[in-house]
Amino acid sequence: MNAIDELFEAASAARRNAYAPYSRFAVGAAIRSASGAIYRGANVENASYPVGACAETGAIAAMIVAGERDIAEILIVGDGDALATPCGACRQRIIEFAGKDAKVLVAGPDGVRASFSIGALLPEAFGPSIRASIDRQ
Ligand SMILES: [Zn+2]
Repeated sequence: MNAIDELFEAASAARRNAYAPYSRFAVGAAIRSASGAIYRGANVENASYPVGACAETGAIAAMIVAGERDIAEILIVGDGDALATPCGACRQRIIEFAGKDAKVLVAGPDGVRASFSIGALLPEAFGPSIRASIDRQ
């Protein structure tokens, strides 16, 4: 199995366990960290809608809990005809732990449909390097 297929299978397995009774839009995410390890997440909705969490959020949390900090690439899988690109908040969450060239692969149940860099999805981001420059002032 090639590297992208491996990431797709991990995200698809996570998606099967998504908790999405309200939107019925199950999403899975899989991160390949700088070490090569894979971390998975699925969306977790809540009756109080704003309390729900995106799949990317869970995958990032799993990576952090394992002691890692660097996203090499992330794959998100959703359903339907539209691209299940990361929401604005998740783009910000990803760039906290990724260089601007880190790959964001967007998939449907049939496989990868599009590939972006996080820098393209969130240009001129307010990221850790800007925070560090502010903190030095
Ligand atoms: Zn999101």
